[in-house]
Amino acid sequence: MIIGVAKETTTGDYRVPLIPIHVEKLVGKGAEIRIEPGLGDSIRVTDEEYTSAGAKVAADRKSLLAESDILLRVRKPPEEEVGQLKKGSLHISHLDPFNEADLLKQFADANVSSISMELIPRTTRAQKMDSLSSQANLAGYVTVILAAARIDRVLPMMMTPAGTLSPARVFIIGAGVAGLQAIATAKRLGARVEAFDVRPEAAEQIESLGAKSVKIDIGETGSTKDGYAKQLTPEQLEMQRKGMAKICANADIVITTAQVFGRKAPVIVTADMVEGMKPGSVVVDMAVEGGGNVEGSKLNEEIEVNGVRVIGLGNLPSHVASHASQMYSANLFNLLDEFWDEESKEFKLDLEDEIIRGCLVTHGGELVNEKVKGVIS
Ligand code: NAD
Repeated sequence: MIIGVAKETTTGDYRVPLIPIHVEKLVGKGAEIRIEPGLGDSIRVTDEEYTSAGAKVAADRKSLLAESDILLRVRKPPEEEVGQLKKGSLHISHLDPFNEADLLKQFADANVSSISMELIPRTTRAQKMDSLSSQANLAGYVTVILAAARIDRVLPMMMTPAGTLSPARVFIIGAGVAGLQAIATAKRLGARVEAFDVRPEAAEQIESLGAKSVKIDIGETGSTKDGYAKQLTPEQLEMQRKGMAKICANADIVITTAQVFGRKAPVIVTADMVEGMKPGSVVVDMAVEGGGNVEGSKLNEEIEVNGVRVIGLGNLPSHVASHASQMYSANLFNLLDEFWDEESKEFKLDLEDEIIRGCLVTHGGELVNEKVKGVIS
């Protein structure tokens, strides 16, 4: 069984799907690992490090795609590459499945099975394979580091002979995986941190990190069985915005991480709210790739609105590509390892298993994922 590892082709994404330590573990299990030449260039891992770990270097990308029984990559393939994949092979990557109906049809038509890493179920057993969480955790860290680098004041309180500097006020909207890491990072830097999430259970987690949980009465809210927030009604969102306007106006940094799984991100910080903020303050919209939590934020741009800097940079995990690769590589290894058949020394696609049922999108020439079918058909 050849497991191929392809370089990421999306501009600005420096992550690598598999690092040598996991190559070594897979080779130890009997897998043949084949890498694209220069696979680790973006994180300074050489082909020699991969070959020392037991990998072989493919002649070129084309032969890698054509010969791999399993192909690993970070993001969805360019459409023209689906037809180049081996028939009956398995493609594992992030696929953005709810927005990629055409791509999924191509996979099915090409008889390529595909796993979408975004759809790994949120269960205790699958946690070690959960790349949405591993990457969101790093993205949350990056939001704070970016904001701290852009703002023209320090985050901690400083008592010096030249006077006392007050701590920056940081307001974090959305306290899921990314938001909690943003809270923790801002606290480590000494900021005064407040946070809000619609899921009631988040309040305790916010407080446990030493931040203040903001209370806004928006009526009944809740979460799905997977732990995701339920969508708010337009009236609830309006109540939320009203409750937040003053906090945003007093904040030096506002970071938004609010998402609703499979749907466009809710607009929480309106243009009026940005206008109400102090000149010099910074807003980071982490949800910008999913439509944005901040009205007017632009993907991959930093804009100034009345002296407020609105940062809409996408692909935040790639700012820490080395660690992001390490974590993603571990997620992929754990997935392969969980379903590794020690006798045949192969990965077995166990269609009865709840993890595979959750993340397998196409198989046997068809779209097989119920969640995805429900959204795109
Ligand atoms: P997410 O990326 O879908 O959303 C981020 C956060 O935004 C969530 O906390 C959500 O409640 C919040 N949000 C949505 N709408 C909002 C609004 N209008 N205002 C403010 N906040 C809003 O979610 P996530 O970070 O991936 O995870 C959410 C939960 O799932 C977390 O509690 C996490 O601990 C849990 N989780 C469990 C597992 C597991 O059990 N294996 C794995 C990962 C995450």
